[in-house]
Amino acid sequence: MSPFPEARVLDVDLSSGTVSAKTIPGEIYRLYPGGSALGLYLFLNEIEAGVDPLSANNVLVMAVSPITGLPISGLSRVNVTTKSPLTGAIADSQAGGFFPVELKANGWEAVMFRGRAPDPVYLYINGDQAELRSAASCWGKVTGEAEKTIRAELDQKDVQIAQIGPAGENMVRYASIMNMCNRANGRTGTGAVMGSKNLKAVVVKKGKKPKPVEQERVKELSSAAPERIRNNSVLSNLAENGTSGDLESLNLVGYLVTRNWQSGWFPEGANQITGTTMTESILKKRDTCYGCVVRCKRVVEVPGVIDPLYGGPEFETCAAIGSYCGIKNLEAIAQANQLCNMYGLDTISCGATISFAMECFEKGLLTRDDTGGLELTFGNEEVLPEIIEQITFKKGLGALLAEGSKIASRKLGGEALDLSITAKGQELPAHMPQQKPSLGLIYAVNSQGADHQSSAHDTVLTANPKSRTWVKLNQLGIWKGYRPDQDTGIDEEKVRFAFNSQCFYALADSLCLCHFVWGPAWHVYGPGELVDLCRYGLGWDTSLFELMLAGERRINMMRFFNAREGFGKTDDILPERIFEALPNGPSEGAALDREEFESARDLYYRFAGWDPESGHPEEVTLKRLSLGWLLDKK
Ligand code: SF4
Repeated sequence: MSPFPEARVLDVDLSSGTVSAKTIPGEIYRLYPGGSALGLYLFLNEIEAGVDPLSANNVLVMAVSPITGLPISGLSRVNVTTKSPLTGAIADSQAGGFFPVELKANGWEAVMFRGRAPDPVYLYINGDQAELRSAASCWGKVTGEAEKTIRAELDQKDVQIAQIGPAGENMVRYASIMNMCNRANGRTGTGAVMGSKNLKAVVVKKGKKPKPVEQERVKELSSAAPERIRNNSVLSNLAENGTSGDLESLNLVGYLVTRNWQSGWFPEGANQITGTTMTESILKKRDTCYGCVVRCKRVVEVPGVIDPLYGGPEFETCAAIGSYCGIKNLEAIAQANQLCNMYGLDTISCGATISFAMECFEKGLLTRDDTGGLELTFGNEEVLPEIIEQITFKKGLGALLAEGSKIASRKLGGEALDLSITAKGQELPAHMPQQKPSLGLIYAVNSQGADHQSSAHDTVLTANPKSRTWVKLNQLGIWKGYRPDQDTGIDEEKVRFAFNSQCFYALADSLCLCHFVWGPAWHVYGPGELVDLCRYGLGWDTSLFELMLAGERRINMMRFFNAREGFGKTDDILPERIFEALPNGPSEGAALDREEFESARDLYYRFAGWDPESGHPEEVTLKRLSLGWLLDKK
């Protein structure tokens, strides 16, 4: 076995314009093995308490992992860590594509940005060389145009670019960082932080890809994927119809978020915005991330309206811009998705904030005077291009909605306060806690706010006990909890399921794994095979125990940061609407039981080693996870 590699980090001081390199020794890197964990380690060593997220004092880290770019599916993702302008809590977001592998191929595990450039710049990385260049020619341009400009300027066709669009430049609180013009570090407003730093893009030259230590063993693992995809209905549907392939089935059980969470039932539109409809209508081709055989990404085209460059809507987008807003026109959703990708906006927060505004409008909390005459009613797809542009450029009502629905609701006050469906200020993604209460628990306790990719979903527990899913769940210490039918309760086994799977997902965001390929359920590869990959790919003599601790360490670093910023148990809550009975459809009457939720949260704190009153990590928990050094940073 080889010694654990060092992590090479580019340290960019935007205020002074200096770029330097530093090295994280292998024995430290092993504790924080890339992505989110490495990002948090670097971030927490730099950031002061209480900084304004949009000030020069904020720090932003992009990181990949020691196994990024190995020749197997689902290993090209980049994590971004910073303080969120949307929530004031920790920001953490992942994206796929080809940018992550090229960052690694240039020999860098992370890039850390601090300060603020006096004028717009981008960072150009070419192997060991990295320099800040003026972004005067591309600032203000939409992502597709900026990409063309940068490529022409560098005279390089094959560079990969992670950039912000006009929404990030204008510091919209849910601006994303885009690569390939269609892959987004979408959540928690990381794009706004880049904008506040006058940082337009990070550009990486094509480099030499890493090779596994034991090539044949990795090849063997890799070659198992196609057959597994063919033989697994979830994976084959994901491959054929994309992430929205399953959207209609959520409606059939009454859990498709509809009209700003007023219902889970969208019978008039669900089949028009589902993945199979996309496959049969506007899909031009399937696309992929580096080295992945699943090919779940969509590329859609409507001549003269939708440019394939901007990809196609994911499940979350079809829901947030579709059913959340009562919109059933797939072409209109795809066009709105294109606008979000051109401007660099998180489609979930954007769609959810528009649906919040639609409910405010229908309830008379926003008037035609407020909307500049726009008929902001549910189902009116005509308003989408205008309102998305207003948000991006903070014009008219857009100036309010650019703040996100939580801050907007506080500004409107009164009844509007109950209409923002958020956790820690981040809009809920399209999986309903009424159906998936353990996921709802994770929405509530997550430091980065509501996120559907932070733990396994309750529905996994309906899998046949003899299936591979249960083999993988057993590997994570989840032995019980099988529910032959959907069960919307949350008991001790569900809390264990939530906590253990959350630790695994936190690890996945650190090793920068795609959650559609590596996971504890229907996924192509499970936890045990991840240990094999670390051994064969990197020569890392590890165990699932060590890896799970790394995941738990990441969760606690985030929690420590939030505690220092004043977050605690009173922020680990869900919107009132989740506890109210759904009004119609197959889920009529379903609601999350408040008492059950609160006792599940208490039990979760005990599992996690967090103080039952404050919800902060106990000193002993930090020490158990080798995080005692954080105690000096309180
Ligand atoms: S499953 Fe989809 S998102 Fe994940 S790596 Fe493959 S193509 Fe990319």
